[in-house]
Amino acid sequence: MFFRPKMKSSRITRLKEYSIFFWLILITLFGVIISTIYKNSEIEKSHKIKSSLSNIYLKKTLKEITNNLEPRYTTKKYISQTGDTYEIIINKLDVSKEEKKLLLKSILKERTLKILRVNQMFEFKFDNLYSKKVMQFKIQTDKKNEVLFSKNSANGEFNSRNIKKNFKKNLVYKETIIENSLYNSAINLGIKANVILEFARLYGFQVDFQRDIWKNDSFQIIYEEFINEDNNVVDTGEIIFANLNLQDTDLQLYKYEYEENKIDYFDENGKSIRKTLMKTPINGARLSSSYGKRKHPILGYTKMHTGTDFAAPKGTPIMASGDGKITKAGWCGGGGNCVKIKHNSTYQTVYAHMSKFGRGIKKGARVKQGQIIGYVGSTGLSTGPHLHYEVIENGKKINSQKLKLPSGKVLKGEERKRFEVSKIKIDVLKSNLISKLN
Ligand SMILES: [Zn+2]
Repeated sequence: MFFRPKMKSSRITRLKEYSIFFWLILITLFGVIISTIYKNSEIEKSHKIKSSLSNIYLKKTLKEITNNLEPRYTTKKYISQTGDTYEIIINKLDVSKEEKKLLLKSILKERTLKILRVNQMFEFKFDNLYSKKVMQFKIQTDKKNEVLFSKNSANGEFNSRNIKKNFKKNLVYKETIIENSLYNSAINLGIKANVILEFARLYGFQVDFQRDIWKNDSFQIIYEEFINEDNNVVDTGEIIFANLNLQDTDLQLYKYEYEENKIDYFDENGKSIRKTLMKTPINGARLSSSYGKRKHPILGYTKMHTGTDFAAPKGTPIMASGDGKITKAGWCGGGGNCVKIKHNSTYQTVYAHMSKFGRGIKKGARVKQGQIIGYVGSTGLSTGPHLHYEVIENGKKINSQKLKLPSGKVLKGEERKRFEVSKIKIDVLKSNLISKLN
């Protein structure tokens, strides 16, 4: 039994020796565990940051913060509206009272800006580094011109100058067969409305737009288009050439500058397309040709009805078909509100059923060809809005549509030679534009 305690004591000693290892191992293990936990928490932390960064709401907030930081330079655009004044527009700007005063003063000094119109584009450039922010601004006067105001750094005032916008001029060739109306056929081709109106105005001297245009008649046209840097059509210019083919007869017109800044349209023989009187004294662009084939709604086409009727929407402007003096502007019984014009010792014209008269149209007033004398209506003996137009020759009513009037100007001599050169140039241009189509 002695052995046992001994044995026991030696065992205890051995255990004590081992315990040092035990503690060492324990401490090491503890260290490893702690460091692992720490590592994991670090990974988790960075995960959390990453996920919160990709969080949509935070992203939005960040974006908003950056957006709300005022950039150094900013631009504000504004388009004038009905009722606007320069003061109202300037007051919309986020600048001091003092600066507003200076801006307004600068605008009012500029002669070309006397009248503020609707749809004028304003563009202000700000330098946000200074308390007086506006460094430059411009105001569009029309589609091709603008006034630029730049701050003179020496005295803080604005210097203004008129500038031409940089537009490229393009020549466009279009041709089509008229299916239903000239207007619709042209619009379908992508021709702008003001070009079609001008086309109809030019042909209004020789064409009755309600009766002369038939299905399958055709036209060709060359006109100018203005293109901006983004390749958008900003404006249309002049018609260079046109041909209206009616029942296989060509009615051509060439633009020709016969004196500096004096432009007119001539046919291929150098005769002005302008006549003493117009065949269609309203813009014929929108007139449909079907109307002429019907009978007059009330009077019918009898011997009594010696005028020509143009069915057009109420309010369509009616033009004086030639220069002259107004001999009547008032009520004509069956003719409703009517206007009579004496053009010369031979010719008079009558316009009936008007809804109202043009500005300043009264007995004794002088009118120019193309001037608006009234608006289409349905007054008097009439069932629908139309213009009743009469031409009186030497006191007798005649058929205005059969009237053959001499043209205004006929180019002769040297003038004619120059016109021929200009005509050839246009013909060459036309064949070039046509060849590009194919
Ligand atoms: Zn009539």
